[in-house]
Amino acid sequence: MDTNRLLDTLNPEQREAVTLPFGPALVLAGAGSGKTRVLVHRIAWRIETADTSPQSVLAVTFTNKAAREMRSRVLGLVGPKAQSMWLGTFHSMAYRILSRHTREAGLRSSFTILDEDDQRRLIRQLIREMQVNERDFPPALAQWYINQNKDAGLRAGSVPDGDGQRDRVLHDLYRVYESKLQSLGAADFAELLFRCQDLWQAHPALLESYRSRFREILVDEFQDTNTLQYLWFRTLTGAQGGPFVVGDDDQAIYGWRGGRVEHVLRFAKDFEGTRVIRLEQNYRSSGAILTVANALIAHNPSRLGKTLWTASETGRRPVLFTADDELEEAAYTVSAIESILSGGQPAETIAILYRSNAQSRVFEETLVRNSIAYRIYGGVRFFERGEIKDALGYLRLMADPENDSAFERVFNIPTRGLGEKTLERVRAQARQDGLSLIASAQALARSTAAPAERSTRALSGFLTLLTDMREAIRGLDLAGQVERVIALSRLPEYYQTDDPLRAETRIESLAELVNAAAGFEPDPEAEPASIEFAPLQAFLGQITLAMEPESRTDRPGQIQLMSLHAAKGLEFHTVFIAGLEEGLLPHIRATETTGGLEEERRLFYVGLTRAQRQLYLIRARRRRLRGHYFDTLPSRFLLEIPADHLETAEPRMVTRLPHPRAGYRTRDPSYPAAIGQRVRHPKFGEGTVLSHEGDGPQCRIHVRFEGSGAKWLIWEHARLEALES
Ligand code: ATP
Ligand code: MG
Repeated sequence: MDTNRLLDTLNPEQREAVTLPFGPALVLAGAGSGKTRVLVHRIAWRIETADTSPQSVLAVTFTNKAAREMRSRVLGLVGPKAQSMWLGTFHSMAYRILSRHTREAGLRSSFTILDEDDQRRLIRQLIREMQVNERDFPPALAQWYINQNKDAGLRAGSVPDGDGQRDRVLHDLYRVYESKLQSLGAADFAELLFRCQDLWQAHPALLESYRSRFREILVDEFQDTNTLQYLWFRTLTGAQGGPFVVGDDDQAIYGWRGGRVEHVLRFAKDFEGTRVIRLEQNYRSSGAILTVANALIAHNPSRLGKTLWTASETGRRPVLFTADDELEEAAYTVSAIESILSGGQPAETIAILYRSNAQSRVFEETLVRNSIAYRIYGGVRFFERGEIKDALGYLRLMADPENDSAFERVFNIPTRGLGEKTLERVRAQARQDGLSLIASAQALARSTAAPAERSTRALSGFLTLLTDMREAIRGLDLAGQVERVIALSRLPEYYQTDDPLRAETRIESLAELVNAAAGFEPDPEAEPASIEFAPLQAFLGQITLAMEPESRTDRPGQIQLMSLHAAKGLEFHTVFIAGLEEGLLPHIRATETTGGLEEERRLFYVGLTRAQRQLYLIRARRRRLRGHYFDTLPSRFLLEIPADHLETAEPRMVTRLPHPRAGYRTRDPSYPAAIGQRVRHPKFGEGTVLSHEGDGPQCRIHVRFEGSGAKWLIWEHARLEALES
């Protein structure tokens, strides 16, 4: 093929990075400078020119969404043969390796991955068994302690003895938790990486085989790797490897989860002869947006230091809008979006970003009211929704009847007269005889002295249901199995009576799960598994790692809503960043330490640098928290941006009308449209101006359209034509 095609669209520094000979390389560069692009082209370049088989490529990204995008870009460059490269998150790569060697890794062939909920439930159970006071040691605290240590690469045995009783109790809990995982043959997320490491250590020949297979190891967003991930990566790479990593210290935003930007520096020390390449030209954003981003990040004292420049036009200054409250924040945003959409810009190029997922609700409601389609990333993720976890509980019990956490999940869902007391009896028996919960329940149902007792009948009924389900799904295809299990579980009927208002959405989610099963593609390289229901098992394994069902993703025509964390690596033509207030951004929890504050600043920087052409910064003067309104202060980060870098959409020279929702009235005589003026809009047709607020091109006009009702529009985008009245 014409390999020039791979280089034509790169600048000289990018080209140098892409064509480096085999060996360790670090691309350290700012936002939007083409790091991900370089990584993608590097993969393609090695495949096309170095006779590298796609099979020898292992590339790590941070999210499933990023992985999908990267895969399709590589495929676009080199064609379908690249399908066989490994590309995904650290966890999913480790899972893929482990599932081929479960026996050697000390895992059951159908091992379960505990997600954060399962993990917390298990910890709560251990706290009770150990008779630790749950008030002093809530499960969330123990979970935080355990994960913190795991992310730092520390097994319970390696955690230094702390002083004080608190540390000792937590340490004990960690130890017990660890041996519980061992005996369950299960793994939490971090455990996947640990087990992989253990596997390699115990079977050096296996490690060797992976090292010689994965010659090309690449990592995007390297600044956010935690110690456990770094150690895993270094083991797999080995001293002879030539890993290719890209990152930006100014975008390190996972310190709170153990991400360590020092790994960027450590990399060059650990891998002798590392070539470091810097990229300084930003290709993403307009000059005005980049100026704001640069001004903000300059306030962070601890930086490796780099300056970004752009050859793009300066463009429009980012707009700052101060709303009265969160309702007006959403109303302003949505009206701006309506105007932009009516100008023909595709919806999926517009994003609303926020610090915490709870902020999405008001935006969602406002978007729904205005019939604008949207898509949320993160938040209550699909596979973490209650109804999905219920259904997965049954499915997990099909693939692995001994799965205790699944057993607990669906024990009394739908309600069948099985209470906490019966469950405790089942648990106690299981502990005593070293049995799984299901085996202990079977023993109890058989042996009980009072077979007619209601709870015994209920227990037998539950066990029979599980057996019947297994019989019923034998021989069905995967989607058929999922559908059948949902029907037999009678979950839909249960939701109808449990909470009729939410039933419809919950049942829709279950239908979506069937879709996900129908679209599931198993790992083509996986060894044929001997266990029953192997495809179901593979599906369940992948689900725990996935963030969202593939069938739902990236539909065009939807506004994108996500947290600032989830926006990492992405770009949008127009970006709204909401809630720029003290306590939200910077987040209240982060303001106590300098490190925390710097990380929040980087998070805002990540948000700013997502925008290509238009950026809106929004704050509210007051905001409702737990049911009450509180006055807010503007984010200190807004004050760090020189005022003349921003265009303010705050109404100047206005008098407030007494009713806060009625908008503002301007005294500016040069106002483009008078109240009562007849106007025509290209999409909404003819209407009458009801009111307006603000002035200049950014002013908002409220128009009642004959055909489509009242709408707020921004003058500049609205393309309104004044009609003779
Ligand atoms: P981030 O730090 O946000 O992850 P990044 O450094 O990975 O950003 P990319 O996403 O790779 O940057 O690139 C940003 C944008 O600039 C993309 O749209 C990309 O296609 C474009 N781009 C990068 N390099 C070039 C180039 N040489 N010519 C034209 N466009 C480019
Ligand atoms: Mg990137």
